[in-house]
Amino acid sequence: MEPTISSTASGSTMTIATNAGRAHNPSEDLVDRSLADTTHAPYWTDQVGAPSPCQQLLASKECDLAIIGGGFTGLWTAILAKEADPQREVVLLEAETIGFGGSGRNGGFISGSLTHGLAHGEAIWPKEMKTLVRLGNENLNAIVDFTKSEGIDADMRIVGKTAVALNEHSVQALEAMHARHAQWGEDSELLDRDQMQADVASPTYLAGLRVRTGSGLMDPARLSWGLKRAALARGVHIYENTPASFLSNQRDGGIALQTPLASVRARQVVIATNGFTPLLKRLQYRMLPIFDHVLVTEPLTSRQLADIGWSQNQGMTDVGNQFHYYRRTPDNRILWGGYDAIYYRGNRTNRELEHRDASHRLLAKQFFTTFPQLEDLRFTHKWAGIIDSTSRFTPAIGTAMNGKLAYAVGYTGLGTASARFGANTMLDLLAKRKTELTELTMVRRKPVPFPPEPLRYPLVQFTRSQLVREDLTGKRGAWLSLLDRFGVGFNS
Ligand SMILES: Cc1cc2nc3c(=O)[nH]c(=O)nc-3n(C[C@H](O)[C@H](O)[C@H](O)COP(=O)(O)OP(=O)(O)OC[C@H]3O[C@@H](n4cnc5c(N)ncnc54)[C@H](O)[C@@H]3O)c2cc1C
Repeated sequence: MEPTISSTASGSTMTIATNAGRAHNPSEDLVDRSLADTTHAPYWTDQVGAPSPCQQLLASKECDLAIIGGGFTGLWTAILAKEADPQREVVLLEAETIGFGGSGRNGGFISGSLTHGLAHGEAIWPKEMKTLVRLGNENLNAIVDFTKSEGIDADMRIVGKTAVALNEHSVQALEAMHARHAQWGEDSELLDRDQMQADVASPTYLAGLRVRTGSGLMDPARLSWGLKRAALARGVHIYENTPASFLSNQRDGGIALQTPLASVRARQVVIATNGFTPLLKRLQYRMLPIFDHVLVTEPLTSRQLADIGWSQNQGMTDVGNQFHYYRRTPDNRILWGGYDAIYYRGNRTNRELEHRDASHRLLAKQFFTTFPQLEDLRFTHKWAGIIDSTSRFTPAIGTAMNGKLAYAVGYTGLGTASARFGANTMLDLLAKRKTELTELTMVRRKPVPFPPEPLRYPLVQFTRSQLVREDLTGKRGAWLSLLDRFGVGFNS
């Protein structure tokens, strides 16, 4: 998820920093009750309508292009490769099932931004921002058009979003954001406290910025499933429950991949494995896997909906390094995620780490602080997922093995649309085509690597503590300012 102002990850157990009078402090009993019957599963993939999984790879195979990873990056790469050349033999290997990773378990916010927001893009690539903004908008429009033309029922709505300020320094930040959005031609409106409360009712809101263009909401599982269907219809060979475990250069110039029961020999390979342990060692230094946590409530009754307003049904975030993102689902639940993003020492990504009660309890508490009028709501779903954070919040896209392998990882929590941009760029790189995409500084230069362990963990923790401090005081502090100077940070 894109932060509203800056960057973050945090494991702190603080409540929402708010100047809006005395913050409501929900009891532990309320949190216990609200989480008593919660299923540990992503709400999106727990719906009816999941396609049956494609079979595992049982016999060895040769192909032109092998794609590792069946999230948005892998699926778009497969679709775009087939559209460019229908004769190309394309194989996609997914370790679990399509949409298992971030693509099937995210907040469902979709944004045209390729630069993690306008302010960040202006700060690191001011000369290319015009191009990056145009490419981002074209990319988002292409996704919207594709879902329409393919009949993908992904509840895609370009409704923009509202950022809310919970303290005085965030109100000032919203004013700066408003000016920036206006300068880039976005439809944005500053809302004072009363206007904000009239739109969505929370005692914690001091002001809001309603941005109506450039982003929206969708159902990520249905988008993943729809892209899978589109890929299969174009003749892509998809194998699920098929982890690829080994990459080696072959004498005939190809690349060999090992899977549990068979091997794949490919002329070219794409790595689309996001924050999961990368097959290419060098990527371990380019990104941090960060666990992000989410809750979903039961459907709201019409009385509860009336108590809260939110008639525009847009996405919401709060301003700060540690921020929440929240939205309504098509069946009128509230998805509430973010804030408590956790890095585990040594880049660990094992599945048990998805179970972190402290993070889900903190989220529940903050939910009831924000919406005390919804105290009788219960949460039906909780989950966590891996976000691949780079030091500059935008992906690392490049090649290896003499240009026969391409990778795009590190969307830093804002990849539901930019995954398609990553896919397009990888295909240009593999074709050795010089294009507008391959010539971007974002592509030519890689993010500054994170230090290896044992240094990495304490540095992440220290930086987190400084981000928390900034949220509370509104002051950037010496350490964060120093990182800014080197264009380094980390983010959920
Ligand atoms: C909780 C959460 C909330 C988020 N919210 C948003 C949001 O609202 N908006 C937004 O823009 N972004 C959001 N993101 C980020 C977004 O989901 C990702 O950037 C995007 O889905 C990345 O797509 P991907 O295909 O690169 O990765 P993924 O969807 O993670 O796919 C990678 C796939 O690779 C597979 N894989 C890994 N290793 C192997 C292997 N060795 N062999 C075969 N397959 C392998 C995995 O099983 C996985 O399915 C969120 C992420 C999380 C976790």
